[in-house]
Amino acid sequence: MTVAIHHDIDLPPIQDMLHIIESGDVHIKRDEESGLLSIIAVHSTKRGPAMGGCRCIRYPNLRTAVYDAMRLAKGMSYKTAISGLPLGGAKGVIILPDEPVDRTKLFEAYGRFVDSIGGRYITAMDSGTCNADMDVLSRYTDHCASRTEHGNPAPATAHGAFVGIKAAVKFKLDRDDLAGLTVAIQGVGNVGYNLAKHLHDAGAKLIVSDVNATNVDRCVSEFHAEAVPIEDILSVECDVLSPNALGAIFTEETVPTLQTKIIAGAANNQLMKAHLCNDIAKRDILFAPDYVVNAGGVIHAAAAIGKNDTVTTDDIYDNLMEIFKRAAHEDAPPAQVAHEIALERLG
Ligand code: NAD
Repeated sequence: MTVAIHHDIDLPPIQDMLHIIESGDVHIKRDEESGLLSIIAVHSTKRGPAMGGCRCIRYPNLRTAVYDAMRLAKGMSYKTAISGLPLGGAKGVIILPDEPVDRTKLFEAYGRFVDSIGGRYITAMDSGTCNADMDVLSRYTDHCASRTEHGNPAPATAHGAFVGIKAAVKFKLDRDDLAGLTVAIQGVGNVGYNLAKHLHDAGAKLIVSDVNATNVDRCVSEFHAEAVPIEDILSVECDVLSPNALGAIFTEETVPTLQTKIIAGAANNQLMKAHLCNDIAKRDILFAPDYVVNAGGVIHAAAAIGKNDTVTTDDIYDNLMEIFKRAAHEDAPPAQVAHEIALERLG
């Protein structure tokens, strides 16, 4: 399946969006022979070289791709900073051409582009890229974190999300175990399936939903999960709601329908708008900030290339506890406090 961003969201000209990258920089590369048109946005290198995945998807135009790269690079800076990693944040984007391309040549050219940034950017996998692509580009640069030998980050992300759920349950329900609790999982793909396994082993009851029936069926047969239609999963009655599919699922329409005590999952950018964290808090629902919960992948990737020998996925527990406690103390939503802490750590 080819992922694409079709809409040219109401964006200003590129020069009027550059404030997103703050004191970082944006690089654009066009390589005629391979058909590469690529952007590397480096948001911050204050904590160390900037790491971030490479997306290879369709975009309606260069402006949308530059916007995507910049906002995702900034998000990576927050994620690496709040996780305590000695890394900054960046993002690579390859605009997938409409016409057929030689994928090897495309990633060879991207590898040369990454190398030209001189180690300030370390590339990794994201939507539309895989370990095999990283193996190709690694012939041209050492600055890559997702080669086949580094493995799939999803199990580490799932483990981090499991640890995050345990922290949220401890804080909100004052419980050290998950036995008998009901966890509703939206999306049981790479991360969601591995998370479901951890939760099942810990004695939780599972409700699952996925557009892919095969993914649902394996959770029903392996973990005795209850399957519900995709339009119902956000409003089922549960102790924990764990989004592991899409972003922007919490909106003005969906927040009033929630029937959970806790939200903790790995999906990126779950809040459609930042202010919705207030609406969720007003409903007495504990929202564990997504980029803290889903840091397991980058923690794993950084360790795999020798750029992290201190932070583990288990640290997500203490990280979230600090956020929850400070949020309670300041009477502020955890997402707002996470943002403040990330900014403090970004320096
Ligand atoms: P994936 O593609 O393997 O799984 C996503 C699952 O969601 C798929 O099974 C898909 O069918 C399902 N899905 C799509 N639309 C749905 C809908 N409307 N309702 C229910 N299910 C739906 O992706 P993944 O690697 O498991 O990642 C899941 C989420 O976690 C994504 O948001 C991703 O950005 C985020 N994330 C992943 C990692 C990682 O290491 N893979 C790291 C950080 C964040």
